Amino acid sequence: MEIKAKKRLVVATGNAHKLREIAEIFPDYEVVSQKQMGFCEDVEETGTTFAENALIKARAACKALGLPVLADDSGICVDALGGKPGIYSARYCGIHGDDKGNRRLLLKNLEGVKERKAHFNCAVALVYPDGRESVVEGKTHGSILLAEEGDGGFGYDPIFFSEDLQKSFGVATAEEKNAVSHRFRALQALRAKTE
Ligand code: IMP
Repeated sequence: MEIKAKKRLVVATGNAHKLREIAEIFPDYEVVSQKQMGFCEDVEETGTTFAENALIKARAACKALGLPVLADDSGICVDALGGKPGIYSARYCGIHGDDKGNRRLLLKNLEGVKERKAHFNCAVALVYPDGRESVVEGKTHGSILLAEEGDGGFGYDPIFFSEDLQKSFGVATAEEKNAVSHRFRALQALRAKTE
């Protein structure tokens, strides 16, 4: 019997939650982080869109490693706040990666606001050493709850009520979230475009 080695997919992220979700969505790949491959630099996200930032991260790791690299840039966009926090989602409260602080500030900024529609957006970029580049986006719609529901997932999941699931991403299982998430939709679109 022939045992086929899984194809390796290098992901330009230091976010363990994102890496786990990408591995769950791509079980047929060996998903590894750029750090595991020896690239530890924190690349500055100077873009003004999700797509630009995903490309910046993928290009930097691809150049350093000489391998195809996938990067994701994502965040939550709230209608009543004109799309904020958007590309600044990870550092909304001022401290990069402070998920609890970010959620608290978002709930505070929406106090008394009735119209709470929001969506997650995810751009994924795939960059090859020969210069080929693909970038696609995925969205998932819902609204911001009045208080946290559940403690599953990461980031804004406990305060996001998913239109598709009719429950918060904080109470959804990983499988449920992965079936409708912005990241899943972006990765599916990328797969369709590149495979
Ligand atoms: P990035 O690392 O610049 O792409 O920042 C993404 C930030 O957006 C994360 O730190 C989270 O705050 C938020 N975010 C992105 N995707 C998700 C998700 O699937 N669930 C909850 N929060 C997310």
